[in-house]
Amino acid sequence: MIYLDNAASTKPADEVIAAMQPFLQEAYGNPSAIYRIGRKSRDAIDHARSQTARLIDARPEEIFFTSGGTESDNWALVAGFESQADKGSHIITTRIEHHAILNTCKYLETSRGAHVTYVDVHEDGIVDPDDIQKAITPQTVLISVMTANNEIGTIQPIREIGQIAKQNNIQFHTDAVQAYGHIPLDVHAMNIDLLSASSHKLHGPKGAGILYIKKGVKFPGFIHGGSQERQRRSGTENVASIVGMGTAAELALKAQAQNDQIIRSMRDHMLNRILNEIPDVHLNGSLQHRLPNNINVSFNGIDVESLLIRLDLLGIAASSGAACTSGSLTPSHVLLALGLPPERSKNALRLSLSIYNTKDEINTVVDKLKMIVSELRK
Ligand SMILES: *Cc1c(COP(=O)(O)O)cnc(C)c1O
Repeated sequence: MIYLDNAASTKPADEVIAAMQPFLQEAYGNPSAIYRIGRKSRDAIDHARSQTARLIDARPEEIFFTSGGTESDNWALVAGFESQADKGSHIITTRIEHHAILNTCKYLETSRGAHVTYVDVHEDGIVDPDDIQKAITPQTVLISVMTANNEIGTIQPIREIGQIAKQNNIQFHTDAVQAYGHIPLDVHAMNIDLLSASSHKLHGPKGAGILYIKKGVKFPGFIHGGSQERQRRSGTENVASIVGMGTAAELALKAQAQNDQIIRSMRDHMLNRILNEIPDVHLNGSLQHRLPNNINVSFNGIDVESLLIRLDLLGIAASSGAACTSGSLTPSHVLLALGLPPERSKNALRLSLSIYNTKDEINTVVDKLKMIVSELRK
């Protein structure tokens, strides 16, 4: 199999599995317990807290473990909104967010009386900080803009948007699930109050994530129960996955610069071959402000579902940005937000690489793509 769907999930690193193993087999004690195997779990969680904090230059006590990116996004928006009900009811986000953000905003609108502004993006998939500035009203309590997009990989001007939020005394959240461990992040320099990340997008296991909550930000819990995570996120900790996420974060920190170069060079090679060797193909989203591992292209006249099926038959795992509901593909909300025609928005192919890919694989996939596209066009 050739795996090119790393924006959807990633292969857990061997070191991650090895670090998790003892917490599944021997140290299964409840981290809140007094006895030795409980304390061992507690220490491991604390260690993972430091490891995950370091990657964004946060303090360990600013990190709260969750079940993943979706929960972190829900928590940030719901608690951020509800805890500021006395100040206002307006939220600013963008049209290209992940559904964990968009559908939580919908919920807040329909059930909690929130007013949400969905800011547009340029056709290169980048949000203009001026548009965020213009959307601010005296009622605005929360701004949420993703660090990098999961479909087209575009990297947003988070530092500038954070600055605007700070100047206006508005809480600033960023969904950094695609960026965390992939590009350098610094919560201070970027003026971030709240940040979501997820373990399984950086070669950790599924079922663990973090919400970074800046020290001093008054922020209520979201899951109520036995008062774990300093009373902010109850529930017995998912120790093994948390340990796995910590290990993945440490590996990412060590290898980020080096991996960036290797992945970027494979991606550029792949993209150049696709653009040069296959006619009538368009790259979607900015090339300059883009995650090093992302390609998103539309081939004129190609039904992407047929393309994905043909790739799968050849053992190649890739994806389309479009959601498949009741058997038919609906155009991607991200590509529609770029102003692309529905045909192109519906038929985009996303190829997302990782350090586990090889140049041989990349060349094989381009060769197969050339063949399939030309056959499908006939
Ligand atoms: C994957 C993803 C999420 C959801 O994270 P899970 O851990 O799978 O719940 C949220 N936002 C973005 C940008 C993502 O890519």
